Amino acid sequence: MGRFVRTVLGDISSEDVKGRLLAHEHVNFDTSKIKHDSDACLIEPETIAQELKYFSEAGGEVVVDLSTINTGRNPKTLEDIALKSGVRIVCPTGFYFGLYLPLRAISGSVISMAEEFVRDITEGIDGTDIKAGVIGEIGWGQQTLPAERRVFESAVIAQETTGAAIITHTYFGFNAIEELDFLEKTGANIEKVGIGHMDLYPDPEIHIEVAKRGAYVCIDNIGRIDYRPDSERVKMIRLLFEKGLGDRVIISSDVSRKSHLHKYGGHGYDHVLKTFVSMLNEEGFSKYEVELLLHENPLRLISISGE
Ligand SMILES: [Zn+2]
Repeated sequence: MGRFVRTVLGDISSEDVKGRLLAHEHVNFDTSKIKHDSDACLIEPETIAQELKYFSEAGGEVVVDLSTINTGRNPKTLEDIALKSGVRIVCPTGFYFGLYLPLRAISGSVISMAEEFVRDITEGIDGTDIKAGVIGEIGWGQQTLPAERRVFESAVIAQETTGAAIITHTYFGFNAIEELDFLEKTGANIEKVGIGHMDLYPDPEIHIEVAKRGAYVCIDNIGRIDYRPDSERVKMIRLLFEKGLGDRVIISSDVSRKSHLHKYGGHGYDHVLKTFVSMLNEEGFSKYEVELLLHENPLRLISISGE
C-alpha cells in the first residue's frame, strides 16, 4: 500500500479517502477529575456515535481522536463507535501535558516511552490488534516541564520509526515557536507536524512563521466562540492563503466537553462542515481552497507512507 490512514478498523489507502477529515477532535476523553469539572467528560459512546453520524451526513469521513493515553483513550470503545457511526476514527498514542502525564512519563526513559508509542502504532494498543495512527496531542503547558520535553523527544523517535504525524497542544498558542524549535532541534520531520491551538494566539506573524517553517498551523478551536468569534478564524486562514501558505492550514473543532455536543446544546462535530464552511464561502474561499482545508491538508498530514 502506498500512503495510508491507520484507523481503528484497519488501514485505508489515502487515495480511497474521498470525504472530509477533522484532525483535532476528541471522541472518548475524560479530563474531568483533574479539571474538577464534570462537563470535561466525554465518555458516552452511544451519544458520540449519534453525534458522529451528523458529521458523516455533512460529508465527514475521518475524525482524528487526539485523546492521549491517560485521558480516556480506549481503542475498543473507538472501534465500537466507528462501527456504529460509520465514521473512520484514528486513535492516537502519546501523552498529554502537566497533570495529565502518567507516572511513567515522569520516571520512565525517553527510549521506553518511544518504544511504547511505536508499539501502539505498529503492533496494537493494550494487547489489542487496534493500532494508533497518530502521535498527539502531546503538549507543553504554561511552563514547560522536563517530562513534557522528554515526551516530545520520544514522539520524535516514534515518528522517525513509524512515519506517523505529531500533533501538539500548546498553551493557547503562546509556546508554538518554542515547541517548533524543539521539534526541529530533535530531528522531527516538520512536514508531519501540526502545531495546535494557533487560533487562540491571534498573532499573524507567528502563524506565518509556523507555516513557512513547514509545519501545519492548526486552527483547531472552531466553534469555541467563548475564546473568540469564528469570523476572526476565517480572517486568520484568509491571511495564510494570501501569503501562499494555504497548504499548511488545518481546521478542526476540538470537541472535548459534553456541552460541545448537540445533545447538550453545543455545536457538535458537524459545526466545521456546516456553519464554518458557509462562513468560508461567504468570505470568498473557492471550492478548491475549502477542499484543501477539509480534505487534502489533513489527509497529507495524517497519511503514513507505506513501503
Ligand atoms: Zn484537543
